[in-house]
Amino acid sequence: MANSLKINVFLIPEEGQRFVFSEGDTWLQSCFKDSEKPDFVLEKVDVNCLITMTSGTIFIKGFFSALIDICCSRCLERASLPIGSDFAYTLTPAKAETREDLELTPEELEISYYQGDFIDLAPIICEQIILQVPMKALCSEECKGLCLHCGTNLNTSSCNCHLNVVNNRMAVLKNFRVKN
Ligand SMILES: [Zn+2]
Ligand SMILES: [Zn+2]
Repeated sequence: MANSLKINVFLIPEEGQRFVFSEGDTWLQSCFKDSEKPDFVLEKVDVNCLITMTSGTIFIKGFFSALIDICCSRCLERASLPIGSDFAYTLTPAKAETREDLELTPEELEISYYQGDFIDLAPIICEQIILQVPMKALCSEECKGLCLHCGTNLNTSSCNCHLNVVNNRMAVLKNFRVKN
């Protein structure tokens, strides 16, 4: 359950706490609103991270590897794609006063805030997964895609459209000659 990824910050031991877990698509879906559901299926994600805390600031360092099921942007077939990344987060307690009039330095922009006694690893891991999903996924680097004219998947079959294009050009050329 997603709840198991909530961590009581007061229970993080001095030497830090390691979290190793695996989740699937049901978990990923539960991290998003209906209107923001991702356009891939999470077959599996394995996460390994260490959480440490120093005077109220929480550091999360780890890595994940995942397998996603996504639509190839060239041939539109489903493809299984491995993704993964190292990640590091710094979370400081949310301050009570407003900071509107304070300009944030670039370092501060890298910092997230937590409120209350718990931090939730779920949105952090979800964000990491989303960041690694390619904008234009490919089933393979050599994917030939679909024929622009008839829509045939050129990985699995062929069509005669390129011949027709050549024939049409020759026809145009013939007409051109006839007219002159
Ligand atoms: Zn493809
Ligand atoms: Zn074709």
